Amino acid sequence: MINAIATVSLSGTLEDKLLAAAGAGFAGVEIFDTDFLASPLSAREVRALLDELGLDCVLYQPLRDFEGLPDPHRARAFARARQKFEVMRELRCDRILLCSSCSPLASPDRARIVADFRELADVAAEYGVTVGYEALAWGLHVYDHRQVWEIVREVDHPNFGILLDSFHSLARGIPSESIRQITPDKLVFVQLADAPLLDMGHLYWSRHFRNLPGQGNFDLTGYVAEILRIGYNGPLSLEIFNDRFRANSAPMVARDGVRALDALRDAAFRAIGRPATMPARAAIDRIEFVEFAVLDGDRAELTAMLHAAGFACVGRHRSKAVELWRNGAANFVLNFAEEGFAAAYGLTHGTAICAIGLVVADGAATMARADALGIERQASDLPAMPALRGVAGSLVYVLDREAARTIWADEFVLEPAADLLRDVVAIDHLAAAVSNDEFLSWQLYWRALFDVDVQTPQDVIDPNGLVQSQAVQNKSGTFRLTLNSTDAREALSSRFLSQSFGAGFQHLALRVRDLASAAGLRETRGMERLPVPANYQDDVAARFGLDPTASAELRDHDLLIDEDGAGRRYRQFYSRAFHRTFFFEFVERDGYEGYGAPNAQIRLAAQSRFRPATSAN
Ligand code: MG
Ligand code: MG
Repeated sequence: MINAIATVSLSGTLEDKLLAAAGAGFAGVEIFDTDFLASPLSAREVRALLDELGLDCVLYQPLRDFEGLPDPHRARAFARARQKFEVMRELRCDRILLCSSCSPLASPDRARIVADFRELADVAAEYGVTVGYEALAWGLHVYDHRQVWEIVREVDHPNFGILLDSFHSLARGIPSESIRQITPDKLVFVQLADAPLLDMGHLYWSRHFRNLPGQGNFDLTGYVAEILRIGYNGPLSLEIFNDRFRANSAPMVARDGVRALDALRDAAFRAIGRPATMPARAAIDRIEFVEFAVLDGDRAELTAMLHAAGFACVGRHRSKAVELWRNGAANFVLNFAEEGFAAAYGLTHGTAICAIGLVVADGAATMARADALGIERQASDLPAMPALRGVAGSLVYVLDREAARTIWADEFVLEPAADLLRDVVAIDHLAAAVSNDEFLSWQLYWRALFDVDVQTPQDVIDPNGLVQSQAVQNKSGTFRLTLNSTDAREALSSRFLSQSFGAGFQHLALRVRDLASAAGLRETRGMERLPVPANYQDDVAARFGLDPTASAELRDHDLLIDEDGAGRRYRQFYSRAFHRTFFFEFVERDGYEGYGAPNAQIRLAAQSRFRPATSAN
């Protein structure tokens, strides 16, 4: 059961696409008709290139608007099919995709459709080709794979079968159990795409918003599980039409494509009780620590900020220029080393969050799954913990529960701190700013490797543009991450990207039990807070029916508030940013599952007021 990808999924010339597919490890490609028509290479030359790259041509696609036509259109459709079969002979390709007709000339008469297909299958047989009939979700008369299956049975020809495309089936909400009716000898080919759930026409949705399995909201695991259950063992192939991918590097999309298919196949095998191909998605307990790369010149300023935020130094590394700072359940590793990973990260990004440490149920299995998904291991400055490459070349340390229990005492000389607050109960969430190109790639990374789910994506209004925000979290809510990206050059997350030379973690949210008291304690320590306008406070007092005491608490401490449909509340305040690169958020949540998205606009507007009047970039 090989991995394949349609050339239409990748950017560049036909040669670029084939090179990227082979480079990422695909065994087969679907050649998209227009990619071939636009290429100066002959079919024979394309075949030679495929041979050189070790790729199979597993499908030629598509043949459109074929069935039920009146003459002379019918005769031309047959002539065109023959011409494609000639090309396929040169390409050594024996399967073709035929999609259901959208032509206003096409007759809905089932007997005519079946007769056309029998005749076409006879022609295909002369060339040794099998036709896979696909229901386009927007087909005029045929738009459901269950209709296709009926027609395939009526045609009853060895060179004519059904082609399943997850987008068309799942966009229409067709139950995946219906696949059980299909016999595997008639399932010619399987195309896979995920997509976000959007309320729009099927055609526009399909042409612009398809994405890789693990980047959208369809139940692809359930879909592929049914396909495997009936005994299909042909290629699993990606057919993705996506505006981001059209502009992205083909090698990155191809690499992610292999990762997406491998993770999906593994999930589908598990769903039907067949042996899995890699360890299960890793369960995350929590974020145990965050590591900062600290430039020498920033040391005093950063430690002053951390102290004001309620942290104190509680340990020094036994052999490295690394300190452990702590408040309650939050550990910060400050790395001052002049050589090694953090030093290199600091040189590129400035003083910044360079790594996060996750506690997982099984560290060795997590690393083995990462290996199987092609996620690179990376050397770190704390060799006791294995690490993986994360956003912007930052690290994700992988600790199992046992390591998390002993790591601090083993690696650090712990010392009592005089001025220690213990009001942080958890690292609530981290927000990463990623480039628009990599937004979907990082979603896939988290969802393929870890047992996390996505929340409904949010559009956040920055004073200078729109930011897309996607939360990724585990079921218990003890691990939460938001990925944020924008096209707007002047939006805060873009300026962060350009100022710090690439994506990274932009804010870190710490959870406390009593937010007003946490704010008060930090006032006495001199923490600089982001101001919240009185207009906002007037609005929320009315909107959430706050009594005067509750409202005064918000006003006194610059707190923001949100409430969900069940009346559960989220309160938050923000620190000023360190060198305009990262900042802290303090939060209090009471069963509330979100991230205060309605307040992000207020926060971004307040932050943009601190923007220098003349900006170099
Ligand atoms: Mg398709
Ligand atoms: Mg936040």
